[in-house]
Amino acid sequence: MSSSYAPFMYLHPYYQSWNVKARLIRSYDIQHVKNGRKIWKMVLLDATGEPIQCIMFSKDVDHFIDKLQEGLVYCFEKVQVIPADNWLRVVQNPYQLNITKETKVLVVDTYVEDFPTYYFNLVSLHGVQSFKHAEGNVIDVMGVVIYASEIESVGPTGTIKQDIVILDQSYFAMRLTIWNHFVDEIGDRVIIDIFQNLILLACGVQVQNFNGSYLTTGKYTRLYINHKDPISSSLAQWYGLDHFAQLKARWIQTRGISLHRTLLTSNACRTTISKFTLMPKGKTYRVLGVLVDIDVKSFDWYDACSICNNKVYYVGDQVTCYKCSKKHSVQVVQGVSVKITIKDSNRSMCLLLFNKQVEFVLQSSTSQLKEWHDQVIHKEIIKTKWSCLFTSYVFILTSPTITSALSSYKVTYVTFVNWEEECAYLLKRVRDKTKTPSKKHRIINVDH
Ligand SMILES: [Zn+2]
Repeated sequence: MSSSYAPFMYLHPYYQSWNVKARLIRSYDIQHVKNGRKIWKMVLLDATGEPIQCIMFSKDVDHFIDKLQEGLVYCFEKVQVIPADNWLRVVQNPYQLNITKETKVLVVDTYVEDFPTYYFNLVSLHGVQSFKHAEGNVIDVMGVVIYASEIESVGPTGTIKQDIVILDQSYFAMRLTIWNHFVDEIGDRVIIDIFQNLILLACGVQVQNFNGSYLTTGKYTRLYINHKDPISSSLAQWYGLDHFAQLKARWIQTRGISLHRTLLTSNACRTTISKFTLMPKGKTYRVLGVLVDIDVKSFDWYDACSICNNKVYYVGDQVTCYKCSKKHSVQVVQGVSVKITIKDSNRSMCLLLFNKQVEFVLQSSTSQLKEWHDQVIHKEIIKTKWSCLFTSYVFILTSPTITSALSSYKVTYVTFVNWEEECAYLLKRVRDKTKTPSKKHRIINVDH
C-alpha cells in the first residue's frame, strides 16, 4: 500500500480518488431507505484530530459489512470525496468520504496511540437556543446530570422515554429527552446516581423547539457518562466547587411543578424592576420583589376554560376558548385576576396575577376567594387577613410590555424566594466582577 495519506484538511472533490488513514470513531446503524437501498454512515478521525463524515451505499454496504469495526485505525485507498449531506450533518466538514467497492481497506493496528480516540464539538447549553433554525444539524453538549425523571412508557408500541436535565458552566439547565435503547443504556444509572455529579457527554443530539428549546436523542446520538477527557474533568471540578450551581440544581430537584415550568423559572434572566422595562422582548425574566399592595377593587371574576385557564367567550349558545380548541365543548371554571404592586430597593411595579398565581399568593382557592369577596362589603378589610403582604416572591415575566387595560405586567409564574440560592448568585456576581482584571492592573492568582 502507498505510504502517503492525505490529512482531511487537504481533501477536495476535484481529485478522483484519495488515500487516507484514519480511526473509525463512530459507525452508525445501517439505514434502510426506499427501494431496498441502504445507507451506512460513519465518522472518521485523522491523525491531526480532524473529523469527516463517511458514507456508503447499498451494494458497497454489503461488501464491507462485518469488515469495519468502531475504534480501529484503517488505511482507505481509492476513496471518493464528495460534498457533505446538508441534512443531518454529523460533523462540521463541507465534504464527506464515499467508500465504494473499489476502495481498498486495511486495518492498521488495533492500538495506534498517535490517532486521537474521540471527537466532539461542544455547544454551550445557553447557546443551544440559537440553534432554532438549524434543525437539520445535530450538536454535541456536555453537562452535569442534575435531574432524571422516572422512565415512562409512551403509547402502545413499547416506546420508552426519560427526561434528563444537565447543567454546564453557562448556568443554563437544559432538558434532554432520551428514547428507547438510550433509556436502556443509561436510564437506571442516572436515577440511582443522581447525586454523584455524573458528567453526561451527548454527541449528535437534535434541538427541538416546543415551549422553548430542548434536546432529544436520534439515530446519530452517542451518550457517554464520565467520559475520559480534560473537559469532562474540568466540568466536574467546576461543579464540585460552584455553590450557586449546586443550589440551582437542588432547587430544580425539589420542585413539585412541571419540568417545563421549573426550567423556565430557573433559567429566566435575573433582573431588577427598574431594568426590566428596558430588557429586550421575547425572553423570560425573573424579578424579585416584596408584595406591598393588593388592589382589592381590581378583582376580576370571569368564566375560564378548564384546560388552559384563559377567558372563554360566548358566541350564541356556544362556549369558545380561542386558545385551546374551538371545536370541542369547553368546560367552564371560575377564573380570577387581580392587580398587585411589588417593590424592590429602587422602584415599584404593578403586576397582574391570574388564577393559580392568585391562589398561590393568597393561599386560598378561587371559589373560596369569590365567596369571601362577595360577602365582604368593605373590600379593604380583606387585605388585613392576608399574610402574603410584605412577603418577597420571585415573579416570572415574559415580555416587558404592559397589558393596556390595567397598566400592569402579566405574570407567567410566581414562587417563593430561595434566599440561599439568591445569596449564592450575588456572591458569584461579586466574585466574577473582581475576577476580570483590567490589563493595567492584573491580579495575580495566588490560589496555586
Ligand atoms: Zn382553553
